[in-house]
Amino acid sequence: MRGALVGDGFDRQMEEQVHPPAWRSPAPLPRYDLVVVGGGTAGLVAAHGAAGLGARVALLERAWIGGDCLVTGCVPSKALLRSARAAADVRRASGASIEARLGEIDFGAVMARVRRLRAQIAENDSARRLADAGVHVFFGQAAFTGADQIRIGEVQLRFGRAVIASGARPEALSVPGADEVPSLTSETVFSLTERPRRLIVVGGGPVGCELAQGFVRLGSEVILVSGARLLPRDDPEASELIASVLAAEGVELRLGARPSQIRQRGREIVVEVGGEEVLGDTLLVAVGRRPNVEELDLPRADVEVVDGKLVLDDRLCTTNRRIFASGDVALPLQFTHAADAASRLVLHNALFWGRKRASELVIPWCTYTDPEVAHVGVGADDPRAQTVRVGLEHVDRAVVDGRTEGFCKLHVDSRGRILGATVVGAEAGELIAEVALAMTAGLRVRALVDAVHPYPSRAEILRKAAEAWLREHRWPRLQRLARGALALRRVWG
Ligand SMILES: Cc1cc2nc3c(=O)[nH]c(=O)nc-3n(C[C@H](O)[C@H](O)[C@H](O)COP(=O)(O)OP(=O)(O)OC[C@H]3O[C@@H](n4cnc5c(N)ncnc54)[C@H](O)[C@@H]3O)c2cc1C
Repeated sequence: MRGALVGDGFDRQMEEQVHPPAWRSPAPLPRYDLVVVGGGTAGLVAAHGAAGLGARVALLERAWIGGDCLVTGCVPSKALLRSARAAADVRRASGASIEARLGEIDFGAVMARVRRLRAQIAENDSARRLADAGVHVFFGQAAFTGADQIRIGEVQLRFGRAVIASGARPEALSVPGADEVPSLTSETVFSLTERPRRLIVVGGGPVGCELAQGFVRLGSEVILVSGARLLPRDDPEASELIASVLAAEGVELRLGARPSQIRQRGREIVVEVGGEEVLGDTLLVAVGRRPNVEELDLPRADVEVVDGKLVLDDRLCTTNRRIFASGDVALPLQFTHAADAASRLVLHNALFWGRKRASELVIPWCTYTDPEVAHVGVGADDPRAQTVRVGLEHVDRAVVDGRTEGFCKLHVDSRGRILGATVVGAEAGELIAEVALAMTAGLRVRALVDAVHPYPSRAEILRKAAEAWLREHRWPRLQRLARGALALRRVWG
């Protein structure tokens, strides 16, 4: 992956952990219980988990252990957003009656911090730690050579079971001229050392929204172009709120029209949208992610691929009963925690004849814009859903913090089962975990009311939403019962 690293001391420190230049491959065993292709989150969880259970495991990685999450995804993006939020906090300090003035932002220092933290976290994913756990780590490009065989470099390995955990890569922009201008993707944007003056972001999904807000807060002019509404997978009210927040912070939004042409004019990049020209000096493409399946020689292992996607059953088994898949290459929800959960499921199914189903996993997600947009389960458009909404202006903690932008929508069926929720607000990603836990444990909405929530906390919004549902859907019956009971008590004393 060229262009992902700057190559400074921090990057060398990271590589020392996750792809040590002096790494010596182990002597291969005649046969492994499990071979894991890819050392991102999905691969790491599978390999560590299997080794912990006493399996003979090999992990094959062509770039960096830790994969996207560590090198080009969650870790660098959230580190960048932290600095951006610090700048935003200074700008809005007057809301707490503190006069503060933001000085010049040293963009180079912000990006050096990103690399420093990435190097620090890399230790958790290190090749040495895997080896100490008993995993045989091989670096190189892997490709299947048979139904139970795989090659990495000159080494041929045989396996009882394999897990494809090869991840995904940024989708290319299919617009005339896009190939002829320099552009960044999530794989290269974190190696910037100079702040873009005017950044054009194409794509309004989580990556596009997070980075548009991050860069505008760090001092770039930002234009975000998206054919669809922002965060199209989330509740439409969340999309509108994020659009208004981004616009208020200075992001120029061009929504509802796809770029029709891209070209270079002098030092400017020109993106044509809806018959108008959008100009910038840097282009960031964030239009989705495509599973990495092409380079694995899958036909030789009898693993079927249709339209660039693995054919999988609900146990995450491919068309070869020995080979399973996990993480971004396998899942419609491409998140680190989803990769983690899927690999645990795969271990169970692949090594222990398990029947766990991927469709039964409760997987929340969160976009780390400010405010955050978090979701789990179904949305209001599910025909079973009785939806209630509570705004953050009813939560005292949000009021005293001056952060009332946001809401909670809770989706409950007629029997009181929680089907899903959207929470938008500061730290919504923390709050959604409570709903995910309730759904996983099969708790009913009443549990969110019975659980005592600390005051004043943002989590109170969940209790208030659950109360709102009980009021709307259970109150008349409860009131009737209460009236009857009180009447009896009056008669009998
Ligand atoms: C900018 C950005 C921000 C994100 N933020 C979040 C977030 O905040 N929270 C969240 O949950 N998710 C986030 N994600 C998504 C998250 O990073 C991914 O879902 C997660 O990393 C997927 O892990 P994985 O193991 O499936 O794939 P990867 O991490 O991509 O790992 C796959 C590995 O396989 C290797 N590989 C591929 N082919 C071969 C081969 N033939 N031979 C050997 N090795 C091979 C690759 O080199 C790679 O290391 C973000 C993604 C991006 C791009």
